[in-house]
Amino acid sequence: MKILIVDDSAPNRYGLQSILMEAGYHAIEMATSPFEAFRLLSFDNPAGFVDVDLILMDILMPGMDGIEACSQIKTRPQLQHIPVIMITSQTELGLLDAAFSAGAMDYIVKPVQKVELLARVRSALTYKEQMDNLKAREEELLEVTRKLEVAYEQLRQQSTLDGLTGIANRRHFDEYLDVEWKRAQRDHKTLSLIMADIDVFKNYNDNYGHQAGDECLRKVAARMQLLLKRPGDLVARYGGEEFAAVLPETDLTGAVRVAEKIRTAVEALAITHAYSIVSDRVTISLGVAATIPTYDGCCEELIKKADQALYRAKQRGRNRVCVSK
Ligand code: GH3
Ligand code: MG
Ligand code: MG
Repeated sequence: MKILIVDDSAPNRYGLQSILMEAGYHAIEMATSPFEAFRLLSFDNPAGFVDVDLILMDILMPGMDGIEACSQIKTRPQLQHIPVIMITSQTELGLLDAAFSAGAMDYIVKPVQKVELLARVRSALTYKEQMDNLKAREEELLEVTRKLEVAYEQLRQQSTLDGLTGIANRRHFDEYLDVEWKRAQRDHKTLSLIMADIDVFKNYNDNYGHQAGDECLRKVAARMQLLLKRPGDLVARYGGEEFAAVLPETDLTGAVRVAEKIRTAVEALAITHAYSIVSDRVTISLGVAATIPTYDGCCEELIKKADQALYRAKQRGRNRVCVSK
């Protein structure tokens, strides 16, 4: 461990140094003034590496006294934790109050007694070592906490997002719809729901392969996500090739407009589907329902209504929007 001696008097510096060296402390730096000490401590570089573990500081020095030097050191976060022991003469004992206020940990009276110096140095270095260990453990703990937070966020995303398309999954949809249902109930606001299903998708899969089918699902999901821009809107993958959109504070007319936009946007993707019975490209059918939730109803009813409307869209020829009656 390294000790820094700051003293303007050469005999004092060498006196301290020889006692310390004799006791086995070989890493010793010496400064003749606080300014030289600041330089050695990379005073103005908060990121600088400081390997000093203890400072022995004379009180009376020309230019800047030891108390001022100590208080300046204690203002630097990278130096704060280095213990400072004041070296004082009998006549300066009255200054000790100020020295402790400045952050000094201990003091030794001149002429320095070997036993006293070594006892104080030993306990200051033990303290420093314990503080270093504590700090290292704190940093380890912080690092573990950071890693845990990242893992938790990943887990949270995985549990709310659909693995294939990256949009919200069914579980998140269920929770979200429930929350929005209750909010709309409280605020007497209209809540709309769109259920959508890709047309003749079995034929697409059977003829172009499952991978092409997956790619098609990703494209449709991304396009729907892009279209629903309001902060409260949620697009989710409801099941295989079925999607759902929750539209809070949106009336039936508004929701139908959104559904029609989705329908034309999917058509505009122009994904070739030579085996469709509807078109030469991939199309989607949509059912829309809207309600102002009552206290005796539940969101299952809204899903059922939108589903019935979707069923009707299929029956009436697909690639269209139908509204719940
Ligand atoms: P309709 O127009 O009446 O909706 O007919 P459809 O063929 O789309 O409906 P059906 O329910 O008969 O078939 C849905 C098909 O969607 C079955 C399966 O091949 C495909 N599918 C469901 N989930 C996935 C998936 O995750 N990936 C892929 N590639 N295909 C899927
Ligand atoms: Mg389908
Ligand atoms: Mg289906």
